[in-house]
Amino acid sequence: MSQKTPITVAYGDGIGPEIMDATLKIIEAAGAQIDINVIEVGEQVYLKGNAEGIDPTAWEILDKTKVFLKAPITTPQGGGYKSLNVATRKRLGLYANIRPSVSYHPFIKTKHPVMNLVIIRENEEDLYAGIEYKQTRQTTQGMKLITIPGSEKIIRYAFEYARNNGRKKVTCFVKDNIMKITDGLFHKIFDKIGEEYEDIEKEVWIVDVGSAKLATVPEKFDVIVLENLYGDILSDVVAEMSGSIGLGGSANIGDHYAMFEAIHGSAPRRAGQNLANPTGLLLGAVLMLVHIQQHDVATKVHNAWLKTIEDGVHTYDIFRDGVSKTKVGTKEFADAIIKRIGQKPEVLQAVDYHPRDDKKIMSQAISVSKEIKELVGVDVFLDWDKGSAEDLGQMLTKIESPGLKLTSISNRGAKVWPEGFKETFCSDLWRCRYEKIKIGEMFKHQNITELLNKLYDSGFDFVKTENLYNFDGEKGYSA
Ligand code: NAD
Repeated sequence: MSQKTPITVAYGDGIGPEIMDATLKIIEAAGAQIDINVIEVGEQVYLKGNAEGIDPTAWEILDKTKVFLKAPITTPQGGGYKSLNVATRKRLGLYANIRPSVSYHPFIKTKHPVMNLVIIRENEEDLYAGIEYKQTRQTTQGMKLITIPGSEKIIRYAFEYARNNGRKKVTCFVKDNIMKITDGLFHKIFDKIGEEYEDIEKEVWIVDVGSAKLATVPEKFDVIVLENLYGDILSDVVAEMSGSIGLGGSANIGDHYAMFEAIHGSAPRRAGQNLANPTGLLLGAVLMLVHIQQHDVATKVHNAWLKTIEDGVHTYDIFRDGVSKTKVGTKEFADAIIKRIGQKPEVLQAVDYHPRDDKKIMSQAISVSKEIKELVGVDVFLDWDKGSAEDLGQMLTKIESPGLKLTSISNRGAKVWPEGFKETFCSDLWRCRYEKIKIGEMFKHQNITELLNKLYDSGFDFVKTENLYNFDGEKGYSA
């Protein structure tokens, strides 16, 4: 039996093949014991008519190896193509995206000489559920999904990661002053799970103020845990702050599979010119080596890379006159790193990976809720463009609504009836809130279907409904 760990490798598109060649050459030169299984993903597969950008046989290989080193891919323009990255993360249950960002001052120019933080991004939920609709001519909408299990898993992962990696603080970014239910849940779970980690400092920022702080004083942050969209945006910002987006590597971790990649894309304009910086993918591969328990190889590769950076051997994206010494292409950069295997940086902090850095973090039993759920009304969304809010209110109050009472109408989230402002701009999608008339009285789904029938008979186009529920008497819907 081979001692080598089987891994799946995809060369990707654009600069992908060049940075993958460089990465594999470096880690193999450092002694990585890997058995490479290559799969084809990305543009060519999409263009062959596969909407997912991955061949079904590739899933079988991934299933066997469980570890995936992936170069960036190009998603062709136009509709019908699904994001391979989103599909892979969801299918393999890769719920945690880990993106370290470090400044390499004074060797790589950055406005933030002191920065060493890790962004832990939830990878499967939020607006990336990809549930979107156009149901009226003027209005589009997308669904933001935040679940208790998804939030508990990622937040626990962040605290465990902090503990295993000797980090002192976990910061959570949310926008729960506006999204009180979805982001409010994430915040609540952060507070609850945080109580179990007395040794770790905790803080919560509203994402806008927090981002401003992150952009000005990144040295104040350590581990940051975020929902999917905020994490996607901020991890790119932070990588660029460290000197180049080409420097960021990331790990996507689930209970059974793991995928490692660069955070940047396929940079098609730089492809085939031996220009690209392979660092993002290389540092992704370092995270992979730690994951497959080849800590000594990970340490050697990372330190050789740090020494190369210190020696001023830089690709175009980080090359600065007066700071850098030699401008190199992808291949020469890889050769320079290989030459330095076994060396350590002298000014930058050397790394030393240990088994504890990859102590397996399994998502734990998720709390089960026994809340009492009670149907208390319905929001009916109408496609209507025949007058003002007042006109609509008057028309709707004339339609019988068994067991229900029309209590308000809103448009784009602003209440416009009763007592709305004439000046409020209204689109063609109206949310009409019906609440059950008598508290405590039995109220069923049939009341809603009866109401919908009556609305239909009166010529209204209802495009969707959202039921209103209370949980243990507390409203499960926005005011
Ligand atoms: P990009 O990350 O490819 O490029 C953004 C900028 O950064 C460009 O100026 C590029 O030249 C530079 N850059 C990126 N990586 C670099 C590197 N290693 N060395 C030097 N410079 C580098 O983003 P984009 O242009 O928005 O996207 C291009 C394609 O990549 C799109 O098709 C997009 O869908 C895809 N993409 C793929 C992934 C992935 O596979 N994980 C992630 C993001 C984007």
